[in-house]
Amino acid sequence: MQFKVLVEYSNRLRKTSSRNDKVGIVVDFLGRLTQREAAIGVCYISGKIRQGKLNIAWKGLSELINAAQQRKRAPNFVEIDRYLQKTKAARGKEKVRILWPLFARLNKIERKYLVALIFGEVQQGAGEGVVKLAIARFFDLKDEEIERAYLKQPDIAELFSYLLERGKGSIEGLGIRLFSPVKPMLAQIADSIDDVFDEYDDFSLEYKLDGVRIQVHRKGEKVRIFSRHLRDITAHFPELVNATRTLPVKRLILDGEAIGIDDRGRPVPFQILARRTTRKKDIGEMQKKIPVLPQFFDVLYIDGEDLTRQTYKERLKALKDLVRNKKYLTDRKMPLSKKDARDFYETSLKQGNEGVMLKLHDSEYRPGKRGKLWFKIKHVHTIDCVILAAEWGHGRRHGWLSNLHLGVLDETRSKYLMVGKTFKGLTDKMLAWLTDNLPKYKVHEDRWTVYVKPKVVVEIAFNEVQKSPRYESGVALRFARVKRIRDDKKPGEINTILDLDKLKRMGISEL
Ligand code: AMP
Repeated sequence: MQFKVLVEYSNRLRKTSSRNDKVGIVVDFLGRLTQREAAIGVCYISGKIRQGKLNIAWKGLSELINAAQQRKRAPNFVEIDRYLQKTKAARGKEKVRILWPLFARLNKIERKYLVALIFGEVQQGAGEGVVKLAIARFFDLKDEEIERAYLKQPDIAELFSYLLERGKGSIEGLGIRLFSPVKPMLAQIADSIDDVFDEYDDFSLEYKLDGVRIQVHRKGEKVRIFSRHLRDITAHFPELVNATRTLPVKRLILDGEAIGIDDRGRPVPFQILARRTTRKKDIGEMQKKIPVLPQFFDVLYIDGEDLTRQTYKERLKALKDLVRNKKYLTDRKMPLSKKDARDFYETSLKQGNEGVMLKLHDSEYRPGKRGKLWFKIKHVHTIDCVILAAEWGHGRRHGWLSNLHLGVLDETRSKYLMVGKTFKGLTDKMLAWLTDNLPKYKVHEDRWTVYVKPKVVVEIAFNEVQKSPRYESGVALRFARVKRIRDDKKPGEINTILDLDKLKRMGISEL
C-alpha cells in the first residue's frame, strides 16, 4: 500500500467522531493490506511506527519537510519500514541523512504525516483500542476471543499478521512464542494469611520480592528480558543474560523477579535497584555497585511446549528440574498449618521482602489476569491521618459524605499536607457519623466536596507509600482504607511526612 492511502484513511478517521464508524474505516483499511505489510499497516493505522522511538531531533526532521521533492515512485509501507529500521540503528545526524531520500519521494502533506507518525502525534481519534475492535470485526471474532488472544499476543500488529496468515481458526492455537512476551500473570490482594487459609487448602507460599518483574526468553545464546510492561530491558541486565545461558535447556521462557543484593546478600530496596533500569550508560559500573540476581518462580515454555495450561504444581516441578542452582529460585514453602504459614511470612519480612505470594497448586498460568489464583499478602501499616475534606458519595452512598481527603503533618508540625483519598473500609455507622459531624467544621464547599478544618482523626491502613507528583507532600498512600475514627486523638498528635518517608522504601511503583 502506498503511504498516501494511509493519509487518506487517517483523514477519514479524523472526520468522524463515531467510534463505530472509525472501526468500520479501519476494517476497510485492514482488508487492503497484504501479508507482507500487515504488521506495519496495523502500526501505522494505530498512529505508531514499528520501531518505537527513533531518537531523532525534531529540528532535523522539520528541515526535511521543506526539502525539494523528486519525481520518483512513491514509497510503499515495506520500503518506509526499511528506512525507519536503518534510521533507528544510525546515530546523530546520520539519521536525517538516511531519511532524506525517503522524504524526497513524498509530497508535503505526506511528509508532515510521517513526521507526526514518527513522534507518535497523529491525531485521528483512533488508537490501539479502535484497531483491536476492528481486528475482531475483520475476523468476526467475539470480544472474549480477541481479549484472550490479546493477552497471549499483546502486540496487535503481530496478532493481526498471525491471524491473516493462518486464518481465524488459528486463534485457539495461539500459544506462547519465543521473543513475543505475554502479559505477566498478576495477583489479588488478600488481607492476611489466615483469610486465605480458611478458604483454600492446596497452595504454596513464596517470598514476595521487592524487585523488577522479568520475563526471560531464550533460544540458544540469544536471550531477551522483558519488563512487566513488556519493555525490552535486556541491555540493563547482562548478569541475568549470563545466568539464563547456564540453564540446560536451549529454548525457554521463565517468569521471575530480578532483585538487587547488597554485600551481605540481602535484597536492596526497590528504589536502589531501579537505578539499574533507568541508567543507559555505565552498565558495567552499575553492575558492580548494584549486583542483580534472578529469582525465577515460574516457567511458561520449554523446548516448543507451552506450559501455561498446566497446573502450578506441574510447572513448579519443571522449573525445579530446569533451574538446579537454588540461588536462582524464589524461596517457597508448602505450609502445613497456619502457624507454619505465619512463620514463613515473618521470615520473609525479616529477610527484607514485601510479604508473601500465595499460589494455588491447581492454577494454570493466566497471562495478564488478576484472578483468584495468586494472592499477595503484604505488610500492612497503619497511621493516623486527619480529614481535610470529604466528597459526597454516589450510588448506594448517595447523600453520605464518603470519599475522604487525608492529611498528615509536615515536618515543622505547622500544617497538614494531603497524602491520599479513600472511601474504603467505611461502615454505615462511620458514614452516618461523618455526614453528621464533618459539616460542623466546614470551611467551604462546592458541588462535590465539603472542605473542613483539620479536626477529625482517622486511623488508616495501607500497603505502600508511593512517590506522588500530584500532592504537595510528595507522597501518596497506596490501598488506603479506614480502620476507625479516633476520637481519642488530637490532630496535633497524628503522623508526619517524615514517618511516611521512612516507610517509603516499601513501595514506589514498578517499571
Ligand atoms: P504488586 O506490584 O503489589 O501488584 O505485586 C505483584 C508483583 O509482585 C509482580 O508483578 C511481581 O513483580 C512481584 N513479585 C514479587 N515476588 C513474586 C512472586 N514470588 N511471585 C509473583 N510475583 C512476585
